[in-house]
Amino acid sequence: TAPAALKESKATCCYCGVGCGVIVQTDGAQVVGVRGDPDHPANFGRLCTKGSTLHLTARDALQQQARALHPEIRVVREMERERTSWDTTLDFLAKKFADTIAAHGPDSVGFYISGQLLTEDYYVFNKLAKGLIGTNNIDTNSRLCMSSAVAGYKQTLGADAPPACYEDIEQADVVFIVGSNMAYAHPILYRRLEAARKARPQMKVIVADPRRTDTARDADLFLPILPGTDVALFNGMLHICLWEDLIDPAYIDAHTEGFAELKRTVRDYTPKFVADTCGISEEDLVTAARWFGESKAALSLYCQGLNQSSAGTAKNAALINLHLATHQIGKPGAGPFSLTGQPNAMGGREVGGMATLLSAHRDIGNRAHRAEVAKLWDITDVPAAPGKSAVEMFEALRDGDIRIIWIVCTNPAQSMPEQKMIREALKKAELVVVQEAYRTTATCDFADVLLPATTWSEKEGTVTNSERRITRFKPVLNKPGETLHDWEIGVRFAHRLETLWKRERTLFPYDDVESVWNEHRESTRGRDLDITGLSYAILEQQGPQQWPYPQGAQAGRQRLYEDGIFATASGRAKFVNTVYQPVAEKVDARFPFHLTTGRLRDQWHGMSRTGTVAQLFSHAPEPAVVLSKIDMERRLLKDGDLVHVTSKRGSQILPAVVGDDMRAGQAFIGMHWGEEYVSGRGNGDGTFGVNALTTPAYDPSSKQPELKHAAVKILKA
Ligand code: SF4
Repeated sequence: TAPAALKESKATCCYCGVGCGVIVQTDGAQVVGVRGDPDHPANFGRLCTKGSTLHLTARDALQQQARALHPEIRVVREMERERTSWDTTLDFLAKKFADTIAAHGPDSVGFYISGQLLTEDYYVFNKLAKGLIGTNNIDTNSRLCMSSAVAGYKQTLGADAPPACYEDIEQADVVFIVGSNMAYAHPILYRRLEAARKARPQMKVIVADPRRTDTARDADLFLPILPGTDVALFNGMLHICLWEDLIDPAYIDAHTEGFAELKRTVRDYTPKFVADTCGISEEDLVTAARWFGESKAALSLYCQGLNQSSAGTAKNAALINLHLATHQIGKPGAGPFSLTGQPNAMGGREVGGMATLLSAHRDIGNRAHRAEVAKLWDITDVPAAPGKSAVEMFEALRDGDIRIIWIVCTNPAQSMPEQKMIREALKKAELVVVQEAYRTTATCDFADVLLPATTWSEKEGTVTNSERRITRFKPVLNKPGETLHDWEIGVRFAHRLETLWKRERTLFPYDDVESVWNEHRESTRGRDLDITGLSYAILEQQGPQQWPYPQGAQAGRQRLYEDGIFATASGRAKFVNTVYQPVAEKVDARFPFHLTTGRLRDQWHGMSRTGTVAQLFSHAPEPAVVLSKIDMERRLLKDGDLVHVTSKRGSQILPAVVGDDMRAGQAFIGMHWGEEYVSGRGNGDGTFGVNALTTPAYDPSSKQPELKHAAVKILKA
């Protein structure tokens, strides 16, 4: 095709929460190229290996074969699913839901959705569950990603609102990266940090991580903390700041509450105790605290090392405590800044698409919030009892308390902890509905009903990235086969259910995706994330905008809490009395290794998209367990020798490789691989990958599971 026939359109990358803008080239039938959008404020034209190969994932022949293009149903479990029509499928589903709810109540059904969905998709499914059906059993894979960050922000600052922005990277004097291999997980933001350091060589970077990752190798100071000891580290840094007069008493007095109690707690976190607990030197600990406390502007960047933990909320809160006490917040270059894992986990949080939340950062546990949402939706009430969070939902499915599960755009059979239990639960379900773009994910094997959905480059709507920036984009390709947009599927199903229930007026009066967004926008009026000054037209004309952007505003707010007024009832930030708790599963004589997990540079999640691009395997061609040289020698292992890696929940065989990033007694496995990528190497029951080993233990506040750590044994195969 002559280049003149190519069309270019703007979109965002569908992978990580940096939210890079891309310009997509199409020839009308398929995506033929991508390049970074030079005008997008997240990336200014740059793309990482994943983003720059998006066009390959979109046109790859294997991907095309893997697409779900038609609705499919099986009426008997043992049979194959058969192609059917949307009418038949949605009628069947509406009747099945109505019958089950009539017999067992609304909490007998559940929805498990995804941070890959667009904000509008999320809004519709949240309203479908909580507004129409009357259950709060809707949770999302964002529970595995950001719920500890949500809980940490809310407990301290009063709202789930990351206070900093990307530009703060250029203005920080100290950048404290903790629980994040940013060079791999948020590569374009990391490039921005590299450029900022080059421009301002006096900038200091501290990295705390159990592994000496590529991010850690670049640091001015690396703290190789033992897994799960982050709260001790942050409390220890605060102890030193107190001792050395590096806190800001005037700021604490004017803008916070609860410091006296925390001060008593951190008295016990002496440098010796913290250094011993974290496995680092006292000298390095003191240096980190001084750099942080003495700097004019300290910015913390953090991700799953803090969130995916049975103490995830305390880790987030302890870090925010440190920022509040030293007044490293609400000013340029400073603040706690959670990096979002998925492209739209932020948008999902905004519409309240989780079992404990409601629209526009409202809470199910708050009577006034429930009344406000009921009024917005024109319904009598929203159920008061919190729904089941991700792990609880699958446990309820296994136990028969939830009978129908509807899974949208996510692959829990691979990505949830304790894969074996998740798979048992899916087998126990009376009905499994899977709404997906791809028919080859591990979860699709369990689907009784498969609903084909559109995906990247075919969808229209909005996403919000880590710095609260909303981007709107339009489809560049037509819907393939009989696919529908995720929000459309939810609306069509809802209309059928409303007909069966003889509702006179629909709760879903949407003509198009913009009308869904407009309703979401109205729900934010007067809230911390107020976007009533925005519209699709403004987002199109002015480009991506940060929230809040209330009516009458000319621009979004770049940075929050600059006036020292927080989103709590008193307007004061709250110190949380954080106490160090060890990991949920301690190592012992039988399971002596700390297994940690994480991203590889060139793969994304369960690889349903990146797993078909050959060049993305050049960095890591196959799954492996990485061990220290000492442990390899002790076990008489050579690079590539096969080993059994076994936890209390499962086992798998992997090649062992030596890594100079590892401390003795620790092992690392990349999170991406499932059985379909290692045919014949699984356990015979479909389980394979790091989540055959991980624990479902979760944080009591955020309910986020401890995917980052498990105790394992490693024996030569
Ligand atoms: Fe996509 Fe993230 Fe890479 Fe940007 S940094 S191109 S959003 S994967």
